[in-house]
Amino acid sequence: MILTKQYRCIHSSSCQCTKGHLSEDVIFLVFHHLNWNPKLIATLSCVCKWFDDLAKRVLWKEFCRTRAPKMMLDLQSSGSHSVDGNWRALGKLLIYCAGSKKSGLFNSIHNPAGHFVDQTRFSRTSGRSFLLPQCRTDVLYVSDPCEHLDQGEEGDIGYFRGVFKSFATSKVRKMLIKKNAKLHPTKVCPYCKAKLWSMLQAKMIPQSASCRLGSYEDCVEYYVCLNGHMLGNCTLLPLSDSEEATELE
Ligand SMILES: [Zn+2]
Ligand SMILES: [Zn+2]
Repeated sequence: MILTKQYRCIHSSSCQCTKGHLSEDVIFLVFHHLNWNPKLIATLSCVCKWFDDLAKRVLWKEFCRTRAPKMMLDLQSSGSHSVDGNWRALGKLLIYCAGSKKSGLFNSIHNPAGHFVDQTRFSRTSGRSFLLPQCRTDVLYVSDPCEHLDQGEEGDIGYFRGVFKSFATSKVRKMLIKKNAKLHPTKVCPYCKAKLWSMLQAKMIPQSASCRLGSYEDCVEYYVCLNGHMLGNCTLLPLSDSEEATELE
């Protein structure tokens, strides 16, 4: 890697830097060493606009590529419709469960039920279960449900999240527009702040979704934002012995 003038001048006695000593190359090396620590990226982004810009362009992209390499290759494999440049949103989607059904599902900033997760598996096969048969050529990655157990009267709630590949040209988006589905008036995507469609309202949730999640049939809802992020919740069925056995297969 070629380090820039700014870096070299750290060692010079007559430093002329006016914009700080650290170059993008140095930050890149440091964060590579830190395995793209997302909390540190997020924290520094809050205090430094220059860093935030670099994070959006470079660091979140590397973070995503490191944590979910196969998924990122797939999401990027369709030219101009890839990921829509929002690596920060995608990075957050990989590691943040928005939790809380009542309001927090959308507004993650002041959401006590939202939390970071160490590892989440996203699956394209799983995503198919969330698409109507006529939309199954779309590519959707969905996470395993994050189980929030014993949520009072609601029982055990599973929160899941996902992302469409090339949402702009997807069948789901076409169908939502054709159906004249309304965007939610106030709620926004916790990952990119775009407006959301309710798939429940649009009657586009297939039964296969509840089977996949292991939830009660009519207790699944999910939303898709204008940029193709999805988030949802369901009421989980209690696990019986036989179901546990199936899961292990
Ligand atoms: Zn969770
Ligand atoms: Zn979004």
